[in-house]
Amino acid sequence: MLEVTDLRAAYGRIEVLHGVSLTLAQGEIVAIVGANGAGKTTLLKTLAGVHPAAGGRLRYDGKDITLARPHARVAAGISLVPEGRQVFGPLSVRDNLRLGAYRSDAGDGDITEMEELFPILGERRDQPAASLSGGQQQMLAIARALMARPRLLLLDEPSMGLAPMIVEQIFATLRARHGAGNLTILVVEQNVSAALKFAQRGIVLETGDIAVEGPSAALLADGRVQRAYLGH
Ligand code: ATP
Repeated sequence: MLEVTDLRAAYGRIEVLHGVSLTLAQGEIVAIVGANGAGKTTLLKTLAGVHPAAGGRLRYDGKDITLARPHARVAAGISLVPEGRQVFGPLSVRDNLRLGAYRSDAGDGDITEMEELFPILGERRDQPAASLSGGQQQMLAIARALMARPRLLLLDEPSMGLAPMIVEQIFATLRARHGAGNLTILVVEQNVSAALKFAQRGIVLETGDIAVEGPSAALLADGRVQRAYLGH
């Protein structure tokens, strides 16, 4: 579904992705893990088109999207849940969901579906998004992205700042949604343990390069990953 070849990205003259190559098969859940500053957010932004590629190629569904504008990628089925949720604070929960459907045909039926997926969003539908807790805002950010009816969902650190129980709940809901079919998920996380338990496959990014990759179970058992990221 997605083929990333030798992707480079830079801020000014400083290159932060040094030629990343990876592929995603349709229906996979893949985690990109790594320390602070490894380039995970930059990678997702480049895939979503909100940061330009400085080199390399992106193919999605057999088409070259390296130069495609972000809105065209959304229309093609790529949705980003940005780091720090970025909900529209003064707007109601419902209006945040409606904005997620800006590029799709999603309507009230989709909103109902989101409220079934995350019941708290139904209970709080008329409240301003800013009044939600961090975990609830994360749920709203995910639901807003799903309103675009994506086939590829990009999640940037959904666990950030949340209690372990909420993180578990969010990943369980995403797994259920994935199980319902037709969704491929790429998640970037500093929470290596939670991410690898959620994903089928993991990729460790270190200062702009892929250091290790493999099935999640193998990475969780890998001494290098355990020492560097799991505190063993
Ligand atoms: P974190 O987990 O802390 O978000 P990350 O792995 O997502 O880290 P990035 O945010 O992609 O990493 O950052 C990669 C590198 O690019 C870092 O060295 C960072 O300082 C730098 N960087 C990120 N955004 C900018 C920017 N807007 N301008 C300049 N440098 C940036």
